[in-house]
Amino acid sequence: MNMNIDFSQYAQLSPFELKDKLIELAQSEPDRPLLDAGRGNPNFMAIAPRRAFLRLGDFAVSEAERTYSYLNSHFGGIPDGEGMLSRFDTYVQQHGHLEGVHFLDRALAYAKDRLGIDKQAFLSELVNAFLGCNYPVPPRMLTHMETVVKAYLGEEMYGHLPVSNQFDVFATEGGTASMTYTFQTMFKNRLLKQGDKIAVVTPVFTPYLEIPELEEYQLEMVELRLDEEQWQLPMEEIEKLADPAIKLLCVVNPANPASVKLSDASLDILAEFVEQRRNDLFIVTDDVYGTFADDFVSLFAKVPYNTLCVYSFSKYFGATGWRLGAIAVHHDNVFDDALESLPMAEKRALDERYASLTPTPREIRFIDRIVAESRSVALNHTAGLSLPQQVQMGLFSLSCLMDADGEYKAACKGIIRQRYNTLYKNLGTMPEADSNRVDYYTLLELDVLGRQLYGQGFVDWFKAANKGQDFLFRLAASTGVILLPGKGFDVVHGSVRVSLANLTHYEYELIGRETRTLLDQYFSEYQANQ
Ligand SMILES: *Cc1c(COP(=O)(O)O)cnc(C)c1O
Repeated sequence: MNMNIDFSQYAQLSPFELKDKLIELAQSEPDRPLLDAGRGNPNFMAIAPRRAFLRLGDFAVSEAERTYSYLNSHFGGIPDGEGMLSRFDTYVQQHGHLEGVHFLDRALAYAKDRLGIDKQAFLSELVNAFLGCNYPVPPRMLTHMETVVKAYLGEEMYGHLPVSNQFDVFATEGGTASMTYTFQTMFKNRLLKQGDKIAVVTPVFTPYLEIPELEEYQLEMVELRLDEEQWQLPMEEIEKLADPAIKLLCVVNPANPASVKLSDASLDILAEFVEQRRNDLFIVTDDVYGTFADDFVSLFAKVPYNTLCVYSFSKYFGATGWRLGAIAVHHDNVFDDALESLPMAEKRALDERYASLTPTPREIRFIDRIVAESRSVALNHTAGLSLPQQVQMGLFSLSCLMDADGEYKAACKGIIRQRYNTLYKNLGTMPEADSNRVDYYTLLELDVLGRQLYGQGFVDWFKAANKGQDFLFRLAASTGVILLPGKGFDVVHGSVRVSLANLTHYEYELIGRETRTLLDQYFSEYQANQ
C-alpha cells in the first residue's frame, strides 16, 4: 500500500462530493470489486409477500376480464365483486400449492379472525387496488388496508406496552415523503414558523439537519446530543427542552448512524419530562429501524399525545424502490389541539386555505391536512399513495402479523448481527454487548479502535496528524472498500459508519481485515516517527 499519496486536497468536500470521490478512488483498479459499505439499502428482502402480490395479480386480472372482454381479448372492466369470494376459493383449490396463493388464503382468514375484516370486502379491496383502476379513496388510505397496517404498527411499536388502536395512518411514498409532508403541513398550518426553534437528537440521518435550514423553513436548530458511549440521551440534553421556544423535537429511534435504540430508562425520563413540563411539545419520531431492535418501544407508544410516527417499509422488507411509508397520529393529539388554539386571524386564513375541501374546514384534522398538503390542497381529490403500492404494503404487514414464531424478524436481525460479529472478529476486537444495540449500522470509532489495538499514544498522533479522512481515501484507493464518515452525520470525533445491511458476509470479513491492515500500517508510520 502506498502511504505517500497526499489526500489533503480533498479536505473541504461536502458529504456527497466526498462519497463520489471515494467511489472514484475505489474504482481506480478496474478488476477489483467495489465494496460500498456506506449504503443503508439492504441486500436482503421479504419474499413471501412479494409472491402473494404476484398471485393476487393473476387473480385480479382474471376478475377484470369477466366484463367487457367479449369486445376483444385486450379489454376488461372494473370488477363488481359479486361472487368473487367463491371464485377465489376455487382459485385456491386449484393453485393452493403455490406459496403466494396459500399466503393470500391465510391472509384473508387472518384478517377476518384477528382483525374483524369481512373476507369478501377485503378481497374486493385487494383486487381493485391491485388493478389500480380507481383513484385512491379515501385518499389517506384504503379502509381495510389501514386496519392491517395499524395492527402491524401496533405489534412493532408498542413493545411491552398495551397496544392502542386509537390512531390513524396515512400511507405515503416512503419515510422521506412522510418527513416532507409533515414539515410542509406544520408550516402551512402555523404550527411552525420561520425562526422557531426545533430540537434534533444528534448525531442523526443528515436530512434532519438539512430540512430545518432550508430557506423556506429557516428553523433554529438545538441539538440534543446522544452520549457517545451508550448512545443515550443525558438528562442535561433533555433539560434543553424546557425552553418553550422549542416547538418540535425530532428523534430517529433507533438512531442512524449509531444504530442503538433509546433505552427504557431514556424513554421513561423523556416521557416524564414531556408530560410534566412540555405537554405542548410536538414530537416526530422516525422509527424506520424499530423492527430490527429487541423489545422496541416507540415514543409513539410512550408519549402518544405528543408524537407523530414516521415509519418506512424500505429497510425491513428490502423495499426501498417500492417507496412505502406511513405517518401515524393518535386520535387525541397535540397537533389538533394546537390548531384549535391558533389565534382567530390564523384560523380564518386556514379556513380559506381549506375551503375547497369542505364547508367546515376547522374540522379537518391534522392528519387529513397532511394528506391535503401532500397535493397542495387544490389537488386533494387525487391525493393518496398509489393503490398497488398500498397492496404491497398491506401484504408486507400481513406477512409479519401472520408470522407467529417471528421467523422473518429472527432472520433479519440474525443476518445483520452475524455480519457485525464477522466484521469485528476480523478487526481483532469485539465491542461489549449492549441489549439496546441494533447493528443495522456500526460506527467504527477510530480513536476507540486505535486505543484498544495500539494505545493512547497512537490515537493522539492519529488525531494530531489528522488521519481520519486520509484513512477513508486510503482504504478506498488501496482496497476498494468505501466507508462513509460519521462526520457527515455530525459525529464529533473520527469515526466511520459501516452499514451491515448491504454486503455479503465474505465482504464484511474483507472489510474487517483490510481495515485492520491499514490501521497496522498507520501504526508502523507512528512508530517510525517516534
Ligand atoms: C433510510 C431512512 C429513511 C428513508 O426511508 P424511505 O422510506 O426509503 O424514504 C428515513 N429515515 C431514516 C432514519 C432512514 O435511515
